[in-house]
Amino acid sequence: MYAVAVIGGGVSGLSCALTLADGAKRFDFAKGKKFLVVDSGSSDALKAVLNNVPGVKRGTTGEEYLSFLRAQVEEFEDVNLVEGEVCEVVKEGERFKVILSDGREFEAELVVFATGFHSFPVKTELVEVVPHPKSPRPGKIALKPKAEGVFVCGNAAGEITMVATAAGSGVSVACDILSRWVGKVVVPHDSIG
Ligand SMILES: Cc1cc2nc3c(=O)[nH]c(=O)nc-3n(C[C@H](O)[C@H](O)[C@H](O)COP(=O)(O)OP(=O)(O)OC[C@H]3O[C@@H](n4cnc5c(N)ncnc54)[C@H](O)[C@@H]3O)c2cc1C
Repeated sequence: MYAVAVIGGGVSGLSCALTLADGAKRFDFAKGKKFLVVDSGSSDALKAVLNNVPGVKRGTTGEEYLSFLRAQVEEFEDVNLVEGEVCEVVKEGERFKVILSDGREFEAELVVFATGFHSFPVKTELVEVVPHPKSPRPGKIALKPKAEGVFVCGNAAGEITMVATAAGSGVSVACDILSRWVGKVVVPHDSIG
């Protein structure tokens, strides 16, 4: 059973997983927790050339950026990155069942939707689909959690569609989850010396 299932492994989903996995390495209360990321491979970043992402070299392609981010996440053996499409998510008691269109099923204690803002064909009663509040184009959607233990990040959370805000949103949700586990606000920081 996974501690957290992240649905969507684009910018926000990978950023969320990175922070969770790092937290699990450093905090006793999170030690041994396992994380799942399911991604169908259509991040908006794959279409982008990045000339304005803080700390990222001008001209970096979104594909290069995502590859680097994915490699960062893959350094943590507690994260399982799975290629596939989630078609249904249900809550059964205190746990969530994540069902893929190829029939695979995974269980998790918490679920994070990081599925972007284009559409949401996932069968679930765990979120409400609403119009995206900040999209530059019409017809985009956002998700509002409707159940305990459900989180949303990135474009799906109604963020403005920029790499930095998507990454920040994923990190923020991860810190909320780490804080929830220990019952106080925590941030995974390192310092010199
Ligand atoms: C052409 C273009 C150029 C851009 N240029 C810039 C730029 O210059 N600077 C900048 O800061 N930002 C730019 N962006 C915006 C940036 O790419 C997005 O803001 C960012 O990718 C949003 O991150 P996200 O995690 O919310 O969504 P995404 O990165 O889109 O990730 C969502 C992920 O969820 C997965 N997914 C969806 N549904 C499911 C499902 N059912 N099961 C499994 N996986 C699922 C998708 O495959 C995808 O990988 C650009 C975007 C585009 C389209």
